[in-house]
Amino acid sequence: MPAAAIVGTLREILGDAGVLAEPADLVTYRRDSVHRAEGGIVCVARPADTRQVSSVVTACVAAGIPLVPRGGGTGFAGGALPLAGQRVVLLSLDRMRNIRSIDTVGDVMVADAGCTLYELQQAALAKNRLLGLDHGGAGSSSIGGNVATNAGGNNVVRYGMARNQVLGIELVLADGSIVGPPAVLRKCNAGYDLRSLIVGSEGTLAVVTAVALELRPAPVAAATAVLGVESPQKALDLFRLAREILGEAVSAFELMSRPALEFHFAHAKARREPLGRPAPWLVLLEAESTSRFMDLDAAFQSVLDRSMEGGLLLDGSLASSIAQRRSMWALREGIAVAMGEARFHVVRTDTAVPVARSPEFVSRVESELGRLLPGCVPAAFGHVGDGNIHLNVLPPQDMPDREFRDRSGELSRAVEDIALSLGGTVSAEHGIGQGKRDALARMLSRAELRIMRAIKHALDPAGTLNPGKVVDLSTRSESES
Ligand SMILES: Cc1cc2nc3c(=O)[nH]c(=O)nc-3n(C[C@H](O)[C@H](O)[C@H](O)COP(=O)(O)OP(=O)(O)OC[C@H]3O[C@@H](n4cnc5c(N)ncnc54)[C@H](O)[C@@H]3O)c2cc1C
Repeated sequence: MPAAAIVGTLREILGDAGVLAEPADLVTYRRDSVHRAEGGIVCVARPADTRQVSSVVTACVAAGIPLVPRGGGTGFAGGALPLAGQRVVLLSLDRMRNIRSIDTVGDVMVADAGCTLYELQQAALAKNRLLGLDHGGAGSSSIGGNVATNAGGNNVVRYGMARNQVLGIELVLADGSIVGPPAVLRKCNAGYDLRSLIVGSEGTLAVVTAVALELRPAPVAAATAVLGVESPQKALDLFRLAREILGEAVSAFELMSRPALEFHFAHAKARREPLGRPAPWLVLLEAESTSRFMDLDAAFQSVLDRSMEGGLLLDGSLASSIAQRRSMWALREGIAVAMGEARFHVVRTDTAVPVARSPEFVSRVESELGRLLPGCVPAAFGHVGDGNIHLNVLPPQDMPDREFRDRSGELSRAVEDIALSLGGTVSAEHGIGQGKRDALARMLSRAELRIMRAIKHALDPAGTLNPGKVVDLSTRSESES
């Protein structure tokens, strides 16, 4: 079937409101947080329920047209966009926005995949519960996308990644069959864990149409501080001390380097220095208590006192109001936003290493980047409590943008290779998408790649679902052959 004919077929299934094909209507679907697709989108299909998703999948398989699932389009890996040369149907879940149920006895929420993370966080809080997933893209990203990318973010140190929140998934397979509704069980050892396989599969194995999420008790108290430290090693010493004293109440432990902060201040055209004396590294430490019987303030103060006495801290500031807490988070979140909005190219990385090796990772990367491109600026920030430091790279002053772009692959690869040599990963939370397939092939063994291909082939033999992302059935990478 010619690509254009699918538009008519999809209109028969979804009605006119369910299909967007005019160029002006496609503009917002042509980008994610980093990438842009100039063409390649035949239309956007917007089903209203799971049965319609199934019909769209069946129609695209029959027509031999690739289908790219799409949530909020906030991903960093180009996963929700066509590859160059492809002609695809985008399957947007943005009309599927029902919260199906909230059970406050079993503490489970069941929601359609198109709900935004923020909507679900608010719905949980309204029932005095917490959804333990949060990140800077919460307002626009969908829960389906968060599950498909196994999103991480700010509270992984306490609650784990998206995977750790998911009790069950409803999905549509490439043959159109529906597996659902999502299981809401806390315990289930019945055979292979399909749910875990789908989490992080980036739309290549199935379309997620609904999710059952574990809820937690809502915090009753929170304490937040920004702390100046000399080095990433001091930050980790502080992390250990904080966990010794506060236990699992530690809910966020974020690191910001001086160059990353300066970049943020310059972008925002406002210097929001949080401490009297600018420190080379800042930590954002947050702890939350879910019990009124814990004296969180006293425990938090003890962390600050002991770290000051032990010479771990240069300086610190404790939030004394919600506004101050927000501005501390704005300091951290503003770095990611500034990197996204920069007018010039920024090399972005998303590696993780075993937590204890983070300081070694930072120093090795800094010296290797200095050797490869003198004058470039490593701008590190991120979730150091998870070993996930985004070691982004800013161009040397006066280097033409095009020239820096041309060095981008070499610089990212250097960062990834150092992470791998320390037992780390090339993708901590952003996924593989279209940009990191080669990096994945460098990281995994032949056996692991073979298994991934076999799974893809078993679930999507025609290669209709998001082809060319994560693993590619049409080519074999060097390390597999
Ligand atoms: C300012 C900012 C800060 C961010 N901070 C973080 C952070 O700290 N940690 C983090 O992990 N992420 C972060 N993100 C990235 C982003 O929000 C996540 O990648 C998010 O999980 C993607 O969700 P989405 O709905 O936007 O998915 P999209 O971008 O639309 O899609 C992402 C991938 O998921 C697939 N997909 C989407 N929906 C479905 C579905 N229903 N079924 C099957 N496959 C699907 C797509 O095909 C694609 O491969 C941030 C983003 C922004 C803008």
